[in-house]
Amino acid sequence: MAKPLVAIVGRPNVGKSALFNRIIRSRVSIVDDSPGITRDRIYGDAEWCGRTFAVVDTGGIETDPPNDISAKMRVQAELAIAQADVLVFVVDSRCGITSEDQEVANILRRARKPVVVAANKVDDPRHFDYGLYALGLGEPIAVSAVHGIGIGDLLDAIADGFPEKAALDEAEDERIRIAVIGRPNVGKSSIVNRILGEERSIVSDLPGTTRDAIDSSFEFEGEQYAIVDTAGIRKHSKVSESVERYSVLRALRAVDRCDVAVTVLDGTEDPATQDTKIAGYAHDAGKAAVIAVNKWDIVERKDATAREYESKVRDLLQFMPYAPVVFVSAITGRRISKLLETICTCAGQHRRRVQTSLVNKVIEDAVLRNPPPDEKGKQIRILYAAQVSAKPPRFVVFSNYPEYIHFSYKRFLENVLRDSFEFVGTPIEIALKRRE
Ligand code: GDP
Ligand code: GDP
Repeated sequence: MAKPLVAIVGRPNVGKSALFNRIIRSRVSIVDDSPGITRDRIYGDAEWCGRTFAVVDTGGIETDPPNDISAKMRVQAELAIAQADVLVFVVDSRCGITSEDQEVANILRRARKPVVVAANKVDDPRHFDYGLYALGLGEPIAVSAVHGIGIGDLLDAIADGFPEKAALDEAEDERIRIAVIGRPNVGKSSIVNRILGEERSIVSDLPGTTRDAIDSSFEFEGEQYAIVDTAGIRKHSKVSESVERYSVLRALRAVDRCDVAVTVLDGTEDPATQDTKIAGYAHDAGKAAVIAVNKWDIVERKDATAREYESKVRDLLQFMPYAPVVFVSAITGRRISKLLETICTCAGQHRRRVQTSLVNKVIEDAVLRNPPPDEKGKQIRILYAAQVSAKPPRFVVFSNYPEYIHFSYKRFLENVLRDSFEFVGTPIEIALKRRE
């Protein structure tokens, strides 16, 4: 099921990222503890009263070129309005309303979306500033992100703004959902167009609709696919240039709804940090991942060119060694069908379920070969393992002392599962649980 998206907006220093962290705290997934990545998190899942939703801290969205704060806030607010279901407007209760707050409020008032005002830094009820009612955006909710005060009330108000569940449900279908993501100009829309075929007309935005959930379907070698809404498809719509160019939220949203995320790189340039972030969304969201290196037609190639490029990609995307790299050209169409085949393989691995008896056999053998070292005088035993869900494959490993099992040993178990069952193109997750 697609999740509602909540966007946190406001001027700098009001506590957006503190509030973001507070809201997603309970849901930091185990894939995050991969060593060697320091990506700032601006996007995460949270749950309140049984509803899962996604949260984005718009303060963390990069919006080059504007260095000017007010331009930046405007872009962030516009993005939030275009993509989110509920907007959380954070103000600093201790400062009263500043002109920057006013500016954001003016944009939000026009949004026709639920807005919840979070009056932050009310560490003590006396700090609450009644002047905030003057924003004209409903009742401000007093919170302290740092001290965790008022968060339940805030989440209640946020949840009130969620669309009905039914409105978000994707039709139950077996199509493999693909999201094509990447920096501007790497060739995302060219790839999408190439995949869909020239003769196909692409659905365009209806003016005034902001919830874009139109997917383009196609068939390839007997398999049904859908390309979920991405920046590229809507290139020629009326959305303003700035919003179009920095369509991070749109990419995140597309990733949320997909099975396989294809991160497109421009083969004429070295992969860059921004690519790490973009591919990282797919990894964090537990999606299957493929890296498409595009524009390979104009790259001057020698024997080792592709291998060298791939090793640069591997260096940068160390957290997703499982993602296949495919060299393509959207312009000539070369290896686009290879790309589709790879997508198909990865989707299959992503939804794969391995029999419990096989999982146990493999884990048992591995533990015999390499038992977990004793820790703090405790003899650690691995008792039982099973795959508990798919998309992506999640495993639970039971132990008498799960808390003493080292990260490196968990990594070892993960590698064992990968070596035995492959899982090409998909992250896998392992949770350690206690059993006496
Ligand atoms: P952002 O720029 O809006 O993302 O703001 P940050 O989350 O980085 O917070 C800015 C500053 O305000 C930091 O020094 C935080 O520690 C502080 N801050 C955030 N929330 C609270 C709060 O509830 N109470 C107090 N006293 N300080 C807070
Ligand atoms: P997007 O912003 O990522 O959607 O990128 P576009 O699909 O709009 O492509 C950006 C530019 O790169 C356009 O000028 C395309 O013609 C060009 N381009 C896209 N794919 C290829 C390719 O495979 N080879 C070459 N030579 N140019 C490409």
